[in-house]
Amino acid sequence: MLLPIAIPHALTYYVPEELVKEVRFGQRVEVPFGRNKLYSAVVVAVTNEKPDAVKIRPIISVIDTDPIITEKQAKLWEWIADYYVCTQGEVLQAALPANLKLTSETVLVLSPLFDEDFNDLTDKEFMITEALTIQNEISIDNIRKILDQKTVYPIVNGLIEKRIVYLKSEIKEKYKPKKIGCVRLAETYVKYPERLNEAFDLLSRSNRQIEALMAYIVLAKDQPYVQKTDVYKKASVDSTVLKAIEKKGIFELYEREISRLGTYEDDVQDMFTLDEQQTRALTELTELYKEKNTVLLHGVTGSGKTRVYIELIQAAIERGEQVLYLLPEVALTAQIISRLQKVFGDKIATYHHKLNDHERVEVWNAVRAGQEVVLGPRSAMFLPYQNLKWVIIDEEHDSSYKQNDPAPRYHGRDAAIYMAHLYGAKTLLGTATPALETYYNAKKGKYGLVRMPYRYGDIAMPEISIADVKREKEQRKLQSHFTTQLIDTMTETLARGEQIILFQNRRGYAPALRCQSCGWSQECNHCDVTLTYHKFKHNLQCHYCGFQAPLTKACPNCGDLDLRLQGFGTEKIEDELKIYLPDAKIARMDYDTVRSKNAHSKLIKDFEEKRIDILVGTQMVTKGLDFENVSLVGIISADQLLQFPDFRASERGFQLMTQVAGRAGRKKKQGTVLIQALNASHPVLREVIDNDYREFYNREIMERNSFKFPPFARLIKITLKHKKADVLNHGAKIFGEYLKNALGKRVQGPAVPHVGRIRNYYILDFQIKLEMNLNTVAAAKRVIRESIVKLSKEAGYTTVRVNVDVDPV
Ligand code: ADP
Ligand code: ZN
Ligand code: ZN
Repeated sequence: MLLPIAIPHALTYYVPEELVKEVRFGQRVEVPFGRNKLYSAVVVAVTNEKPDAVKIRPIISVIDTDPIITEKQAKLWEWIADYYVCTQGEVLQAALPANLKLTSETVLVLSPLFDEDFNDLTDKEFMITEALTIQNEISIDNIRKILDQKTVYPIVNGLIEKRIVYLKSEIKEKYKPKKIGCVRLAETYVKYPERLNEAFDLLSRSNRQIEALMAYIVLAKDQPYVQKTDVYKKASVDSTVLKAIEKKGIFELYEREISRLGTYEDDVQDMFTLDEQQTRALTELTELYKEKNTVLLHGVTGSGKTRVYIELIQAAIERGEQVLYLLPEVALTAQIISRLQKVFGDKIATYHHKLNDHERVEVWNAVRAGQEVVLGPRSAMFLPYQNLKWVIIDEEHDSSYKQNDPAPRYHGRDAAIYMAHLYGAKTLLGTATPALETYYNAKKGKYGLVRMPYRYGDIAMPEISIADVKREKEQRKLQSHFTTQLIDTMTETLARGEQIILFQNRRGYAPALRCQSCGWSQECNHCDVTLTYHKFKHNLQCHYCGFQAPLTKACPNCGDLDLRLQGFGTEKIEDELKIYLPDAKIARMDYDTVRSKNAHSKLIKDFEEKRIDILVGTQMVTKGLDFENVSLVGIISADQLLQFPDFRASERGFQLMTQVAGRAGRKKKQGTVLIQALNASHPVLREVIDNDYREFYNREIMERNSFKFPPFARLIKITLKHKKADVLNHGAKIFGEYLKNALGKRVQGPAVPHVGRIRNYYILDFQIKLEMNLNTVAAAKRVIRESIVKLSKEAGYTTVRVNVDVDPV
């Protein structure tokens, strides 16, 4: 039995006589855990063997009649827990939609749309619903008291499925039902249909009202409910007509909650014909898949990879195979989904955290029932696929595929490759800038490799040049953070009516407020980082914990009044651009501006429809976007991108710059990219300018080899946290000894990371570097697990938190 909590193993419960016939793999059952808590747990094995454990408790009830998970899912979850050194409970927690996880503390509320129609309810459902209308919210524990019975999960589950109750967490945070306006007959006419004649008499003076009523009657014949808009269309009337009929007591206008799924209504479109390069790529792919399970599609930005995916998906659908299409981030799904929906309509479903809990269960069930294509970020791999044969991993190089917190700290790409292996599915990795590990695997022949070196439509790759910040500084041409070269090029671009993307990797206005005489800078109260100034809110904010503080006037350290903002983020870039280019319409896309639900898609739409000339943004503007009128991309500071204190700094920098450059000149003509840099001679810049991935790869892979970094070694990062620095320090010392005793020099640390305290937790890191040898790695993971258990039993250190991150990125 798997419980959605972080306990090390699956637990065993006994099946009472009367449930023996009912309990099967994959169902949820209700089980006791701890003193008096009840959980919904998932059955992962049914056995006749009695484990040695002292006391086995019984299952209380069976929640589902059919299994909700498949054997393959359980296997994948087990692999993830094992590989990423976490518990299966943590994986289950991440994998199951909230509505499928119930605990005694789960609080239920009534659906905001429940219209007090108690007729269809059973007695017990009625009791719960009635109690909810009085009390607003009730925990499952209390429901148990109200019904005066132990077993309530199946009933609660039924109410959730009928959408009569919701989990409270959901309502509070994200539940916004999608509603449509509907019309129905008033009750008397439903009860006594013969009175409809009188209704027509009542309307006799208005032809339009009569037509609306007739339209309604026709529509209602073969629809469970009638939408207002359908009546408008059919009878050519508007809302005033329906309201008039409502006034006469014939119609009732009401709102109805509908599913967001399966509501794609635009016509599906024909696909464009493949060009020569796409045709060749497909032929090569088909050939390669005869021998390889995984193929890398290395196609430059704008080469038309999406069209190739579409072809594969189409063929898969025809064969009745399921396809999983993974993207690194939800934000990216907006543009892609509309492109894919035009081709596949309802055959494609999306799955991500922006869906509400009901919708997630709906997708879950749809996938189990054979939904053809699923598009989503990494969590989409947790769904109950039946016949998964294709996994497409778009932008495979993207580090957002990695989950950093909480556990399971899994890499979406790598776990998906394993998953494909489980299902006997083929994997396609697509990108313009492959991860070093991926390209290495392709070169070694482990993966197939297909190249698409040209842009679709014979458009040349953008022309990239460096704007030398140092030189302009010396020549006194620099205008704040902009080179004259950049300003001039922007002015020309705008004059031609074309659009611009500017990339700056920091949000906020300025990342520090510093005293000019003693060097003091304002830090977060809870984290060891400087606070970022946000002009819009006119305060300082911590980007790690959200702490906010007002600006100080005098330095608390030395009293000096000369405090200055240092550095710059997107907000400042946007602000200053308005001075240099006063006529341009400028917008900003970063975490701060896309927080509200539709802000992101609105920005994209506004930019697409040219209501914005210049889009300034963080990483968000670098990824996957496809705008036809963008002819200039500016990178404000390449130096910041190449300075990460990490062995992946060059790789990141190359990928980011190449990707953002790829947003320029995609459709009509060659684009221009300007990279501002202080250190204009950095080798990565040359490789970006030459668009030379192979040159970059060859240089970088040699460095990785000489310093034994991935792909020539495996890394595991272990992070220890505690609120008290001395407990942490001592705990880390003890923990380090456990590790070093078994693993020797492979263990480095403990070391204070880049940010040594976050949310009042002090942090120390270990890095374990392992030879590429399965046994070594497996043994090391065992040592780590054992060390964690040991430390948790060490008096005084039981509260030290230990996080394991396998293959950190
Ligand atoms: P990539 O994903 O490789 O960066 P896209 O798939 O976004 O490239 O394609 C780049 C642009 O070229 C898109 O606007 C796309 O609509 C267009 N395109 C690609 N293939 C074709 C085709 N066969 N016919 C017409 N337009 C195409
Ligand atoms: Zn000072
Ligand atoms: Zn903070």
